[in-house]
Amino acid sequence: MSVEARGLVVVVEDEANIADILRLYLTREGFEVHVAPDGPSGLSSILELKPVAALLDVGLPGFDGTEICKRLRAQNNSTPVLFCTARDDEIDRVLGLEMGADDYITKPFSPREVVARVKAVLRRHGPAVEQTELVEFERVSIDPQTRHCTIAGVEVPLTATEFDLLLYLVSQPNKVFSRDQLMVEVWGYSSAVGSRTVDVHIAQLRAKLGEPDLIRTVRGVGYSAEVPE
Ligand code: CA
Repeated sequence: MSVEARGLVVVVEDEANIADILRLYLTREGFEVHVAPDGPSGLSSILELKPVAALLDVGLPGFDGTEICKRLRAQNNSTPVLFCTARDDEIDRVLGLEMGADDYITKPFSPREVVARVKAVLRRHGPAVEQTELVEFERVSIDPQTRHCTIAGVEVPLTATEFDLLLYLVSQPNKVFSRDQLMVEVWGYSSAVGSRTVDVHIAQLRAKLGEPDLIRTVRGVGYSAEVPE
């Protein structure tokens, strides 16, 4: 199978039949796939192999998928992470504050959906950045080139998705975006469960920025970045 096409995806999954299906579908789409069956080997695979994305099961031997993600982010590793979750309580943990997950897929998933999500994550993390100029207002500075955000000169550690969401909002200041729009523009797909993903990422952004007025909730509509003209 050709390796050059889309890059390597690390799948951390302890159920061999699910891992096999994921491998089959991702390989068919031109990805190279490495499967790790537990937390420790999953973490080391991601660190060593530097995949374009990682697909993490939550319940794993050793330590679980959320722990893999936490440890990656603690080392400033920004590999796009997609969680495969089976239960509602897992979704809450996956979307938990400071987690640094980029998206999640609920089991049972269709392999086609998994492939679409992986591609969407890669589009978001791809080199194509529409906005390239530095955005500055009041104490906030957002640099699309280096992907750094600072407030009063202090670096705000954002995940790739949080950064993309913030950049998208401030690139059209004071314009109100619906959750669906944000889902399509930032995550690259539309989804029935999308609104929750958007809400959680907005909450994380607000908490990290410490500027509660920067992102405004427009009740029943969506969100906008309040940027002085
Ligand atoms: Ca499992």
